[in-house]
Amino acid sequence: MTNIRTLRIDPKYVPELKRGYSLILKDATQHKEPLEEGEIIRLVDQHNRYIGTGYYGLQNKGIGWILTTKEHEQIDQSFFNKKIKIALSHREEFFHNGETTAFRIFNSEGDGIGGLTIDYFDGYYMASWYSEGIYSFKEYIYNALNEFVDYKAIYEKKRFDTKGQYVDQDDFVMGTAGDFPIIVKENGMNFAINLNDGAMTGIFLDQRDVRRAIRDRYAKGTNMLNTFSYTGAFSVAAALGGARKTTSVDLAKRSLAKTIEQFSVNGIDFEAQDIKVMDVFHYFKYAIRHELKFDLVVLDPPSFARTKKMTFSTAKDYPKLLADAIAITEKNGIIVASTNNASFGMKKFKSFIEQAFKETNTKYKMIDQYGLPKDFRANRDFPEFNYLKVVFIKKLS
Ligand code: SAH
Repeated sequence: MTNIRTLRIDPKYVPELKRGYSLILKDATQHKEPLEEGEIIRLVDQHNRYIGTGYYGLQNKGIGWILTTKEHEQIDQSFFNKKIKIALSHREEFFHNGETTAFRIFNSEGDGIGGLTIDYFDGYYMASWYSEGIYSFKEYIYNALNEFVDYKAIYEKKRFDTKGQYVDQDDFVMGTAGDFPIIVKENGMNFAINLNDGAMTGIFLDQRDVRRAIRDRYAKGTNMLNTFSYTGAFSVAAALGGARKTTSVDLAKRSLAKTIEQFSVNGIDFEAQDIKVMDVFHYFKYAIRHELKFDLVVLDPPSFARTKKMTFSTAKDYPKLLADAIAITEKNGIIVASTNNASFGMKKFKSFIEQAFKETNTKYKMIDQYGLPKDFRANRDFPEFNYLKVVFIKKLS
């Protein structure tokens, strides 16, 4: 470890890093000389005391991640092997559960390497790389997978163009290419997945526990509305749980065919369901005009969305979104309020809920809540890593 560059951390940022916060924020260091993506860096405090060793890689508000706080640990093949091996051991029960064949085997900082996630889909592995810096270590990671798992194929998503967006490419890395879509299982439900069709696969694995709750505890006999429905995964869960009818609303044209597909692979007659390609905010007006009301309403918006006419940000506009939903929810109906915005925690989210019900003069009760599922290991001391917040709310009046 000769030529490792040392970065001094601003005193203000030292305590958090010492507490286990592994993201190196842009403002935490004043380095002048340019650093290279993937460069190993050593962090010290204002007294030159060692804090940790990490890598340089631009990712949103960070310039890299701490990989170890052991001063003499080398960042080499055996380091990455160890991380992958431990991560796999934490998912042992998933590998042995035939009812669920899609889950996360590596969750970024929660498994000790910020900027990398790896998901498992019935024998296929999908690595998502969130900076050029972490991508420069890809050989180590793929070597580790070669050593520890039997795979059908490995796919990768590069999520690091200048705007942090997905880089379009053929995502196949090695193995025997899949014939997509493949069907994976989740608690007995089927989902069609494509690992080589852009940034998204067809399902968000972090909502697994919520889908199960909807199917097993909340859907029976309901008229269900799924807003921002994407491929309709929550609608599938509701239909399988005995919903009388589901309505899925998403702006993206692809959502129609994808939702039909997810219903079909579960043996649900999609023609008995409503699938609307439209702006959710227009749908709310449409529903009021037609006096439509629902017993179960799912709200799972993107953190930010921009249409021609408006922008929506969960950090600002969630109360308004909830108010729109409250207006078309039956008395004693349930609203499932979800957000993946990492910039605020559960407490703030609940204050949005309180605000919305207060402003609409409606009584409510929070009856259930969810965060990330077990395979999405995260440092629970820092809400930004434990980003998922889902609250089931009963509308009482
Ligand atoms: N709830 C989904 C995931 C939602 S992803 C699931 O569990 O699978 C966010 C979705 O919101 C995207 O599919 C996007 O097309 C859609 N979207 C964004 N803005 C929208 C708007 N104004 N109206 C309807 N859909 C919108």
